[in-house]
Amino acid sequence: MTKFSDLKLGPKVQKAIDEAGYTEPTPIQAGAIPAALEGRDVLGIAQTGTGKTASFTLPMITQLARGRAKARMPRSLVLCPTRELAAQVAENFDTYSKHVKLTKALLIGGVSFKEQDVLIDRGVDVLIATPGRLLDHHERGKLLLNDVKIMVVDEADRMLDMGFIPDIERIFSLVPFTRQTLFFSATMAPEIERITNTFLSNPERVEVARQATASETIEQGVVLFKGSRKDRQASEKRKLLRALIDAEGDACSNAIIFCNRKMDVDTVAKSLSKYGYDAAPIHGDLEQSQRTRTLDGFRAGDLRFLVASDVAARGLDVPAVSHVFNFDVPSHAEDYVHRIGRTGRAGRDGKAIMICVPSDERNLEDVERLLQKPIPRLANPAAPAAADTGAPAEQTSEVAAPEAATAETPKPKRTRTRRKREEAPQAEAAPAAAPVEAPVDVPVAAPADDVAAAELADIAPAPVDKPEAAEQAASGRAPSRNGRRGDNRVVGMGDHMPTFIEKSFEERMVR
Ligand code: AMP
Repeated sequence: MTKFSDLKLGPKVQKAIDEAGYTEPTPIQAGAIPAALEGRDVLGIAQTGTGKTASFTLPMITQLARGRAKARMPRSLVLCPTRELAAQVAENFDTYSKHVKLTKALLIGGVSFKEQDVLIDRGVDVLIATPGRLLDHHERGKLLLNDVKIMVVDEADRMLDMGFIPDIERIFSLVPFTRQTLFFSATMAPEIERITNTFLSNPERVEVARQATASETIEQGVVLFKGSRKDRQASEKRKLLRALIDAEGDACSNAIIFCNRKMDVDTVAKSLSKYGYDAAPIHGDLEQSQRTRTLDGFRAGDLRFLVASDVAARGLDVPAVSHVFNFDVPSHAEDYVHRIGRTGRAGRDGKAIMICVPSDERNLEDVERLLQKPIPRLANPAAPAAADTGAPAEQTSEVAAPEAATAETPKPKRTRTRRKREEAPQAEAAPAAAPVEAPVDVPVAAPADDVAAAELADIAPAPVDKPEAAEQAASGRAPSRNGRRGDNRVVGMGDHMPTFIEKSFEERMVR
């Protein structure tokens, strides 16, 4: 087993590692750090939670400890897909460089250019940025990239999902050819492979997990659920979520609840709060200050439930998240791995529970194909055991119980071609297969225990949803440059997919 002391990191960096309480390097660290210290390019294929951030920050700090930055000419550059991830990387630098004199700046949207200009003017050793904001600074003539000696691309697969690859290629063309490149991605899609072949020079390839594998420490389960009526499915699904949370009891110390649509993020957070659960939303339409506050509260343990969209929660490192609830099956199978990777981090146990409605079954099939194994079926805790007791069925009994718990993968019919769906905009762009949550007609004399109806009556519909890429745009990305960005964004139906296409032929015929 490698020890940190074998890695030849600088003594001041080693001191910070000791203070962080790390005794052994993780596999990605043991593989990437020696090559990075030798000045070689590194291609790290690792998911979040593996310690990959330290695998590039530690050697960078060691290398940058010598020398000084010139005004407006950063010596190193770390590119991250989201503001939150960039902020997290910055925190890592703070932790590990506390005994080394290094200057750094964070260039992310939602923060004034002026503040960032002042930092850049002083000269920074480490510049951590989202691609759009970085290019904005460069195009304003405030930033020169000719002195970048080390460039890091973190979460490249997410950059691809978010349409940042043209920006990344442009940034590669702005930094010196002789730079060292450290490139990280959880998966190696063909487009990522192409980028690495083009811009990395004889990299040390370090792969710590099979592509898209979930951590072994995460216990997974899925509840197959169908609403009693189409117009009740959304509220009954929220009720099921509460039942799933309750069933976990104290073991659920905190959780991230993922929804595919921002609209649902808001609705689920409101609904949980209304029922006395300590919950708050995070997605790209919220003010940056609110996002930061919510995230800080969750990290500090002051907030128990973080209801999140994929983009906002991307790469979040909250070391002790006991549970992840997938309110929806992600429409992009790889997001499942990323989502559940929020729990079970750094060797801890974690639990990931998902709800799958009939219209999500094809997505579930994709997720299981990616995992190469079925996700165990869980019983629906909201379904009463009416058959045993003979007790009269109450409202909740209409919530269809899933098929008996079984480890077998169902084989839902695939009536639509795979290509069609792959063309569809992903994640939050997915159209509402579930109906938009306009309050339904709730009879005034609704029974008091009809919580689903009461709940719906209280929750106002959220504004029209934006696709995931648009979320990023709303959260600070600059408009398209050179007509390149977004050129390939509108595919198939663009951002709109009529609901009828989401349904199988059979589903359409029965309605
Ligand atoms: P990351 O994959 O970079 O998001 O890191 C996941 C978590 O692992 C973070 O909370 C780190 O603080 C933690 N971590 C990183 N390196 C080590 C290590 N060598 N030993 C224990 N924990 C670590």
